[in-house]
Amino acid sequence: MTDVIDAPAAVKPINHWIGGRRHEGESGRNGAVYNPATGQQTGAVDFASAEEVDAAVQAAKQAFPGWRALSLAKRADLFFAIRELVHDRREEIAKILTSEHGKVLSDAVGEVTRGLEVIEFCCGIPHLLKGGMSEQASSGIDVYSIREPLGVVAGITPFNFPAMVPMWMWAPALACGNTFVLKPSEKDPSASIYTAELLKEAGVPDGVFNVVHGDKVAVDALLEHPDVAAISFVGSTPIARYVYETATSRGKRCQALGGAKNHMIVLPDADIDMAADAAVSAAYGSAGERCMAVSMVVAVGDVADPLIAAIKDRIPRVKVGDGMDTSSEMGPLITREHREKVASYVEKAPQEGATVVVDGRDGAPDDGFFLGPSLLDNVAPEMDNYRDEIFGPVLGVTRVSTYDEAVRLVNENPYGNGTAIFTRDGGVARQFQFEVQAGMVGINVPIPVPVAYYSFGGWKNSLFGDRHIYGPEGIDFYTRSKVVTSRWPDPATSKVDLGFPQTR
Ligand code: NAD
Repeated sequence: MTDVIDAPAAVKPINHWIGGRRHEGESGRNGAVYNPATGQQTGAVDFASAEEVDAAVQAAKQAFPGWRALSLAKRADLFFAIRELVHDRREEIAKILTSEHGKVLSDAVGEVTRGLEVIEFCCGIPHLLKGGMSEQASSGIDVYSIREPLGVVAGITPFNFPAMVPMWMWAPALACGNTFVLKPSEKDPSASIYTAELLKEAGVPDGVFNVVHGDKVAVDALLEHPDVAAISFVGSTPIARYVYETATSRGKRCQALGGAKNHMIVLPDADIDMAADAAVSAAYGSAGERCMAVSMVVAVGDVADPLIAAIKDRIPRVKVGDGMDTSSEMGPLITREHREKVASYVEKAPQEGATVVVDGRDGAPDDGFFLGPSLLDNVAPEMDNYRDEIFGPVLGVTRVSTYDEAVRLVNENPYGNGTAIFTRDGGVARQFQFEVQAGMVGINVPIPVPVAYYSFGGWKNSLFGDRHIYGPEGIDFYTRSKVVTSRWPDPATSKVDLGFPQTR
């Protein structure tokens, strides 16, 4: 049964959140926020000046000593409270996501649920921050290590996961004792303000979590700010590279996750229906606006024809519509410009030598920024359709003769975020896992996003920096280690010794 839920209506101002309260923008600059399902403007988001970014950093800096000193037991208590609130309000958060991003409501609930996993991981922060201890490392000397927070840290996030990706950052950052400034995507900023309100309601002290909205001006102000110790970034590869290079040249710690071109290899022994179901789900879910979306299927040997037929057969059954309509399976794209850009790849596919099997421009709803699923055959590595991250509902298929050719394609690609293989042969799957160059690998799993107690991240142009995000590497990123060497000698044994300290 079709159940239509009302989106939050009317154009609304979307302000910053500084020091525990809304802060109306004073820069005189703002951006339009749309409901992508209708194409109507629903919000106007303030764009921060460098001074407003500084105000947020100062609020975080002031809050740091108190937050850092809070016992682990109390911080864990707060995280349990945050977990309960986010869990109870996940439908409300999902509606905010759908109304500004466009993804269907069930997918939006899924986004919140995956983010919640990271919050749940952080409830165990006392255990995660345990250091090491060596008693009697030398005679009468004990050595122990401690992990301490960095101070004020910042997160800069993309439009495609407006709740989950910020959770990947603020949850471990706060749990480790840092204070935080978030610069969310200007395209769908409301979830970050809702999060700020929830954290306040849970009891997080003012200034511990702040939000500044905006564009390059706000990002640059964070990158340049001497009081920001670390930057986490998720977004496209060119900006990730820029953020990483700028932040590290200013002496900051930085992890910058970039774009992707994720290959799904299908071997001749794979179950065709299962592979087709997986390809359709992973290519068109969230209208292809996922960094872990499958954008290229690599069909090995004679699997290509039946596989393409099976995918083609499934596409007309994908219900494209307003994400608030619970019968919709795929929503619109984020903006009109992005929709036009994605459609242009389908337009130029025949000139590039690819075959358009299904054209998503046909029959997509007229209102809003909709584009139906497209399927391209005979796509080759030198085509823009292969080289570029299209970030929309366009699935390309490339045909190769052998497994070795397929793996070479993945390994030669400049991106290395996710990849998957579909086969019934455990030995080949094991070989693939061993030799493939990507950070996240699926074996008969098309979107292998790691669970929260592992870390998320790609290789090559999909990640700049040496630590992946959330999980154990997230804890590592948001802390620095201190090693204490201690002794409590009898003063009577004390003497001057100018030699280099040696163990005895
Ligand atoms: P984007 O790079 O355009 O924007 C990301 C952030 O950077 C936003 O907050 C934006 O305001 C800011 N920004 C944009 N241009 C800037 C500039 N010139 N200078 C400074 N800051 C700037 O990315 P997007 O379009 O919001 O998101 C989609 C991209 O994110 C895709 O490439 C996708 O693959 C990637 N992504 C990657 C992952 C991952 O985990 N690797 C996850 C989600 C999304």
